[in-house]
Amino acid sequence: METIQNFINGEVTDSNSLRFAPIFNPATGEQTRRVVLSTVEDTKKAIEAAQAAFPSWAKTPPLRRARVMFKFKALLEANQDALARMISNEHGKVYSDAVGELTRGLEVVEFACGIPHLQKGESSANVGSTVDSHSIMQPLGVCAGITPFNFPAMVPMWMFPIALATGNTFILKPSEKDPSLGLMMAKLLKEAGLPDGVFNVVNGDKEAVDVLLTDPRVQAVSFVGSTPIAEYIYTTASAHGKRCQALGGAKNHCILMPDADLDMASNAIVGAGFGAAGERCMALSVVVAVGDEIADRLVDSLAKSIQKMRVGPGIVDGRENDMGPVISAAHRDKILGYIDAGVEQGATLVVDGRNCKVADHENGYFVGPTLFDDVKPDMTIYQDEIFGPVLSIVRAPDYQTALTLINQHQYGNGSAIFTRDGDTARQFSEDVLAGMVGVNVPIPVPMAFHSFGGWKRSIFGPLNVHGNDGVRFYTRMKTVTTRWPASVRLEDHSSAFTMPTMD
Ligand code: NAD
Repeated sequence: METIQNFINGEVTDSNSLRFAPIFNPATGEQTRRVVLSTVEDTKKAIEAAQAAFPSWAKTPPLRRARVMFKFKALLEANQDALARMISNEHGKVYSDAVGELTRGLEVVEFACGIPHLQKGESSANVGSTVDSHSIMQPLGVCAGITPFNFPAMVPMWMFPIALATGNTFILKPSEKDPSLGLMMAKLLKEAGLPDGVFNVVNGDKEAVDVLLTDPRVQAVSFVGSTPIAEYIYTTASAHGKRCQALGGAKNHCILMPDADLDMASNAIVGAGFGAAGERCMALSVVVAVGDEIADRLVDSLAKSIQKMRVGPGIVDGRENDMGPVISAAHRDKILGYIDAGVEQGATLVVDGRNCKVADHENGYFVGPTLFDDVKPDMTIYQDEIFGPVLSIVRAPDYQTALTLINQHQYGNGSAIFTRDGDTARQFSEDVLAGMVGVNVPIPVPMAFHSFGGWKRSIFGPLNVHGNDGVRFYTRMKTVTTRWPASVRLEDHSSAFTMPTMD
């Protein structure tokens, strides 16, 4: 059976670890490969390679670093089919959704191609007489990225294109559930001309991660994953003096106002709730319907749409399925447990996805799309991130109650409103406690040239990923104040003991 190893100093490198994790095809339940769980020694070897490659990569002109990104972009496009098939095989999402994930990652690569402009810094002439000031945005050194299973290509590409383009070296620790994309992208970066050691992949679990969090040679850690692990990563990395951004879990709400275009909203809600089997940090999991009339119509419309959804493997000949399996048997069972809890706690189960059978894929990890109505804020299915195809409808008497409900939730990643009223939409955008807001847009994922990040327990650390925040995260500012000797020649050379101010 094939073993997915590490990529260190420009080549696939065998680990000496005796620990491995199985990789499954979630659509069939079969083990397809295994991945090495790296040792402390393996991880230190990657840090050494990244540390050694840093000085010359940091001095490489940004234009030349950008040219590597241009080539990498072209290679991603040329290899799209193989990459998307691997995503679908290891993660389970349908092929077109895997292509969508690659496109969103590629857009960050395109953003990083503009690094000569983005990393220019700032400049002021005459901050004092004959004194100029300019800032330099310098790379940090060795940076690490620890990524989740649900976007094995896109989330790493939220991080490393900007880290590399700004002159850092990088170590990626992919999810052990679908690790192959890490190695595939490493090989493409090498083909694009990236020098050895600048990008490395260490596969593994907590053992490898803890080295990245504590080794003094690692300067910055980007993490995306569940909230408890994000808190651990942020606390540990910060305690070891590292810059850290740690993005966590979510429970994304939308408000459906009585004046909304119901057909548009209902179609958008089905796609946002059940796309990628609900395994998106921006998946829509709660609709707060304002007023019983629109709530009744929505439930009716959603139930009809759900009945038409095709659930099955991600790669098929002919017409594609709408929704694939979830990542693992354990995760399927956890989701089924949440549905049981919803029923026990009194929510109305409108569509039950518990006994989902897919022909010829009896051992796949399928959960059918599930719809609950009359969900109350104290129920577990409302409180927790389920990360599966389970959509909850909460009924609220008015807009203010709906907004308060959203703002009291522990998570604040994305949030949306469906309305025809500009004033309500504007007020919502201003008052909702969430990092990304959609107006008649159900999954408001910002484009690569904006930044992505939530509020509350959906993020730890001050800077979001990609966009200008990404450039800030991977650089540190140095401000140079310059006075040229001509002025020195003309001036009094005696010492000054007062705090310097610019005249
Ligand atoms: P996870 O937290 O289990 O794993 C994420 C990464 O952390 C993996 O690489 C894993 O190997 C590592 N890890 C796990 N346990 C660890 C430990 N004890 N110590 C050190 N490292 C550890 O998350 P997941 O199940 O892979 O992904 C799903 C979660 O990610 C969901 O909660 C989802 O909302 C979240 N997510 C958030 C965003 C966002 O932008 N906010 C994006 C995608 C996914």
